Amino acid sequence: MTLPQDPGAAPPSQAAMGAAAEPIAITVTRYLCPYCRRGHSKKAAAARHIARCWWSPAAKGCKTCALYEPEITERDTGYRAREHCGAEGGPDLAAGGIRTGCALWGPREEAVDA
Ligand SMILES: [Zn+2]
Repeated sequence: MTLPQDPGAAPPSQAAMGAAAEPIAITVTRYLCPYCRRGHSKKAAAARHIARCWWSPAAKGCKTCALYEPEITERDTGYRAREHCGAEGGPDLAAGGIRTGCALWGPREEAVDA
């Protein structure tokens, strides 16, 4: 069975897609974020993601910051707290949530050792 190379060409006839037809293997290129492994079909989209990825220290986001306070669930402690910045008057409270590109950002201990 030969396949049309032109994606705009007509699909194979019903006879060509009978019981003897085999699965077609294809290879695709995906671009993954090296920090969180999120995949993208376009390299430029991956680059845009990396620039703002929560797990990229270069993005200076709350999740890689020494001041970061993770979410606490009721099951753990009996009370619930959203993830937030531990700085006095942290920027998350003013801006409505955790963020990237923070001027107060400092690396966590485990990030320094890695
Ligand atoms: Zn990422």
